[in-house]
Amino acid sequence: MVANWKMNGDLQSIERLICDLKRDFLDKDLESERVIILPPHVYLQIVAKDIGSTSILIGAQDTDERESGSVTGGVSAKMLRDVGCEYVLLGHSERRNLFDEGDGAIFQKLTQALKVGLKAIVCIGESLEQRNSGQVLEVISNQLEPIINQETLPQLEELLIAYEPVWAIGSNKSATIQQIGYALSKIRKILRDVDINLSESTKILYGGSVTEKNIAEILAIDEVDGALIGGASLDSKIFSKICRIAKTI
Ligand code: PEP
Repeated sequence: MVANWKMNGDLQSIERLICDLKRDFLDKDLESERVIILPPHVYLQIVAKDIGSTSILIGAQDTDERESGSVTGGVSAKMLRDVGCEYVLLGHSERRNLFDEGDGAIFQKLTQALKVGLKAIVCIGESLEQRNSGQVLEVISNQLEPIINQETLPQLEELLIAYEPVWAIGSNKSATIQQIGYALSKIRKILRDVDINLSESTKILYGGSVTEKNIAEILAIDEVDGALIGGASLDSKIFSKICRIAKTI
């Protein structure tokens, strides 16, 4: 389960969220679940310290595509590693749309992340317009294929891919079981066609309006290995409940 907190909360609310999550994880014996939280950059170091010895892992919501230098406001992959990140989210549709990030920049970010040993969670998914014009397969292939090549392949053994249809994010309208099943089987096939080992080692997540009400049926879909959760991850009770349900599946 990956919790994307986006640009929400403040120091006080984030410290409370961590405290509640820690308690829930210890009480409900959720330590065996792989849970990754993605706080805003400025709170990463505090969260890494507060999370203590729980099994919860930490990632960043983005990284810069350059290694270092005159990039005012930039945060490099090495800096993220230094403050305790193990993962980095790349290619979220909000970054693609609000910051005009293209596949070239996402590939550069992936290269920087892999260089310092960060594991990547790469988001792909179509807009409603693309879905309505029958372009789902084309979009996911176009977003996925450029990040896998001879240079990146040897380092992608712990890749996470999140299929997030843009229209399902924050909309209270999750994709249907059939839509998720179709997209994920295509993603798996693309991976298999490139490299069988990559296909076997890659975890594929679904993201888009996941809640405690639909997580069970989503995780029951064959190809789904986990979920990327935005809004519902900001409430520790709901997020812990989602993790608890995931543990039983
Ligand atoms: C997301 O932002 O990646 C996301 C899946 O958000 P939500 O769960 O709120 O739809």
